[in-house]
This record gives sequence, structure tokens and C-alpha cells, in this order.
Amino acid sequence: MEGLNIRNCVRCKKIFAPVGKEKICPECRAKDIEIEERVKAYVRDHRGITVNQLIEGTGVPAKIIWRMIQQGLFENSGLLDAQYPCGNCGKLISKDVYCSECASKLKENAQKFAAAMTSKRKRAAEKKTQSSGKTFSDSMYDEINSSRNR
Ligand SMILES: [Zn+2]
Ligand SMILES: [Zn+2]
Repeated sequence: MEGLNIRNCVRCKKIFAPVGKEKICPECRAKDIEIEERVKAYVRDHRGITVNQLIEGTGVPAKIIWRMIQQGLFENSGLLDAQYPCGNCGKLISKDVYCSECASKLKENAQKFAAAMTSKRKRAAEKKTQSSGKTFSDSMYDEINSSRNR
């Protein structure tokens, strides 16, 4: 039997029934939309303002403004310097979550990690075959071989 699809809103912790994969309840979502509309209207009324002026003027937390920039909500809106800090080093960027340096560094780290995992797995597999696969006759053969080379 399928249980009732309910979850706690990550914002206000209230229980709600999500229609899709929403993490926040309809009330918090409505608040978000209201803030977004207010911010967008502010930019419309103050074309040519900067991000800092927008944050100051609306009193909306910078994090929300940055998320909206990242989502591309200010394209052709008249907002100047539509940038936000890189999620890793804080450098101002205008697309993606990380700046290009951090993105390539993180990618490199991920590849290194994957490579380390692969070699670790390989080593474990080799160890297994060595300990279980090497028989007495194998080592005898090795010995004969090495004495022959002498
Ligand atoms: Zn909520
Ligand atoms: Zn960065």
C-alpha cells in the first residue's frame, strides 16, 4: 500500500502534501514568489541599479537575490553587474554555481577521487587473487625460474 505523500517543509517545518518534488510548502512558496515579484518590480522601477543597490533598496536577503540572478530572472531587466559570489571562493560570477577556476579544481578533485577509488578497488582485487590464487606449485615454479636465470 502506498503511504500518504507528506513531508516537512524545509523552510517552516510544517507538514504538507507535495504535488511533485517540492521541498517547501505552498505558503512558503507563495512568500518566495511574492518576494521575487517585489524584487523584479523594484528593478523595473529602478533600471540601471546595481545588485548592491537592489539588496539595500528591497531589504531582501542577498542570498535570495543571488539565487534569482543565478536562475536568470534578471536577464534584460536593467540590473547592472548581475553577479553573485562563487559558491567556493566568493569571486563574483554571472553564471553557474562556481567560478571557472573552482569548477575545474572541483572537477579535478572529483576525478582524483574517482581514480583513487578505482585503484583502491583494483589493489583490493589483486590482493585477493594473490592470497587465494597463488599456490605452492606457483612459488616452486618461480624459484626454478629465478635459479635458471642466474
Ligand atoms: Zn513552509
Ligand atoms: Zn571560485
